[in-house]
Amino acid sequence: MAEAYDPGNIFAKILRGEIPSQRVYEDDAVVAFMDVMPQGTGHTLVVPKAPSRNILDADPATFGPLFGVVQKVAVAVKKAFDADGVTIMQFNEPASGQTVYHLHVHVVPRFEGVPLKPHSGQMEKPEVLAENANKIRAALGS
Ligand code: 5GP
Repeated sequence: MAEAYDPGNIFAKILRGEIPSQRVYEDDAVVAFMDVMPQGTGHTLVVPKAPSRNILDADPATFGPLFGVVQKVAVAVKKAFDADGVTIMQFNEPASGQTVYHLHVHVVPRFEGVPLKPHSGQMEKPEVLAENANKIRAALGS
């Protein structure tokens, strides 16, 4: 049987405001914030507020609002960083590489010839995350 959702996971804490994050977007159903160990400049996580571990146990009603915001953020990061493309990733359970058990989608701006950095690799400086978040907020606002 699949494991139960744990409301103590780090993204649940971020959603409740118990842990700080660089939020770039929020609506009734979805929040987007900067990944603290980005695999590329502007790596953003798009997270539904509804609790589920991942795609395997999520309410199907979650996906419309979630992927609407994934598209908004993908368009915004491409513009904000003048990227050549955007990689979308989503992991389910440890065997797939998932490390935080609250459903989320990775949105990573891509540049010709620049490989992705390792998943959950190095922490980015807070000031760099803040600057990148500002660029994304500006792109989302226009
Ligand atoms: P997963 O492996 O579950 O698909 O991705 C989890 C992501 O969350 C990783 O890319 C990792 O860098 C990021 N992450 C882990 N802890 C934190 C945190 O405390 N804050 C933020 N903003 N991102 C985190």
